[in-house]
Amino acid sequence: MTPSPPIVFTHVRIFDGSGAAPFAGEVRVDGNRISAVARGAERVSHDNARVIDGRGGVLMPGLTEAHAHLTWPTSVEKLVPGMSLPPEELTLTAARNARILLDHGFTSCYSAGALGRRIEPALKAMIDSGGLPGPRLVASSVEREPPKDGALDPGKVDEHGAGPVNVAAFVKGCKDIGAQAVKFLISGESALKPGASQQLLYTEEELMAAGEAAREHGLWLTGHAHAAAAVKLGVRAGFRVLYHCTYADEEALDLLEAKKDEIFVAPSIGIIQATLDATPPPHFDMTHMKQDAEVVLARQKALVPELRKRGVRLLPGGDYGFPFNPNGRNAWDLELWVRHFGYTPAEALHAATALGGQIMGQGDELGQVKPGYLADLLLVDGDPTENVAILQNRHALAAIMKDGRFHKAPHEALNAAATLA
Ligand SMILES: [Zn+2]
Repeated sequence: MTPSPPIVFTHVRIFDGSGAAPFAGEVRVDGNRISAVARGAERVSHDNARVIDGRGGVLMPGLTEAHAHLTWPTSVEKLVPGMSLPPEELTLTAARNARILLDHGFTSCYSAGALGRRIEPALKAMIDSGGLPGPRLVASSVEREPPKDGALDPGKVDEHGAGPVNVAAFVKGCKDIGAQAVKFLISGESALKPGASQQLLYTEEELMAAGEAAREHGLWLTGHAHAAAAVKLGVRAGFRVLYHCTYADEEALDLLEAKKDEIFVAPSIGIIQATLDATPPPHFDMTHMKQDAEVVLARQKALVPELRKRGVRLLPGGDYGFPFNPNGRNAWDLELWVRHFGYTPAEALHAATALGGQIMGQGDELGQVKPGYLADLLLVDGDPTENVAILQNRHALAAIMKDGRFHKAPHEALNAAATLA
């Protein structure tokens, strides 16, 4: 790839990811990194730079989706009834969804599991080599649950025997195909099967074996955990990311708090609110799903502020990709955090940016507007710290930069004053 000229964003207000209010200033990008940030009347060097006039818009770090399912087929561009597609369509749909997330300002995605074994490692390699547009991706393999019969089991795509030895072998296999995160359904999902959220799908021995294998091979474990016992087992087995944690009791909260520097929690509220809001076609009965979602929402509204008080790192990300909760709508989670969890827009944005860099394993170089950080930037035509819902409108994103390159370059009109020295 030919090197891009240095870029200077001027006439912008900078939301740096810390959660502090935006400040007037300038940002310079050299190569793929932010090289300078100026405040107030200070200026960065304009030498040799293409200067972008932000016209008072907010420049902020790109967003992170902490519960991404690029292979969940439905997106804002295409409704796919159900969850299954032939392998060729599934692979291409995942690539399309990667581009859609980037179009909507998500420059990083932490995968919560896939519907195909090697789709995400392959997609990540294509994106990272510049061959396809998409976010930075922590790739995963097939979302795992133990073998069993079931109508809607995303995890039964390939064989995975029971017992600690087989579970450890599965984790090792994920390493071999280039996945970084391994997803387990520690407990079931009541939205799919009544009562399942309270059932453990793995034994303690199996999860401990998974934890040992993950540490041995340098992988991260990601767990779907509703039941209190599932949260506790996940923490004890060394899971790095836990979703939901809906029924966490006092002991589970204490365990999460004790591991707060190692663990991330994504409550995943998008899917819950979408379930409550959905008006399904007549042949699809969502009564039970809606009842469950009501219980989950009530619990999450109490749980999230409590975990936050205890210093646990919480991230937006909401299981997008279902027909009623499409990929591309991911920024809706931020509005829901403000509505349900007592976050200000700036606090929700901090969670989606600075904490996003941390969940990607790059907290020292990703997710903030700071000298030395990777240049993943959004230029917003408006102020998301005033109205976080603005990020749901991709047309409000005047520019999207990933790794120092524009995925969406500022429009010529916006760029009338730009100069190329
Ligand atoms: Zn999920």
